[in-house]
Amino acid sequence: MFSVSPEHNCCTTQPKGKALCPYCQKEAKGVLSKTLEHLLKNTVRSTLSSLEGYYYCKTASCKVVYFKEDDILTQEDLSVEVGLKEGVSPATLCYCFHWSKENIQKELEISGNTKALEEIKAKMKDPGCSCEILNPSGGCCLTDVQKFIHEAKSSL
Ligand SMILES: [Zn+2]
Repeated sequence: MFSVSPEHNCCTTQPKGKALCPYCQKEAKGVLSKTLEHLLKNTVRSTLSSLEGYYYCKTASCKVVYFKEDDILTQEDLSVEVGLKEGVSPATLCYCFHWSKENIQKELEISGNTKALEEIKAKMKDPGCSCEILNPSGGCCLTDVQKFIHEAKSSL
């Protein structure tokens, strides 16, 4: 049931199960209970019987952030803005070292390049990252950052 990702293993291993988001029907990854524990508003967390078994929907246009069967949690239930969702500003991509779509875009406009990836990779080694409690996805941001840089560069 569990497979080891050959990619980055900076963070605690995430639950490997996947489920379909009840709204957008896209595949969503499981998140650790400690991710929800840190990112949900206190008032919301106290109403939930358990933080285990939730999934994270990363679809930009979907209002669902976390779900577990019929249980839906949205942006309103979280204490941080989910940068990957549509219309969010700042659109934070890297929650550990504060890279957003805005500041990457700005660097690209000024110099044609960005040090975001290099800086994130360097800081992952020292001092290390805390994606599992800071990033709503509960995981590494590198794929999202890479994808955004690619998109932004091609539309410069
Ligand atoms: Zn969704």
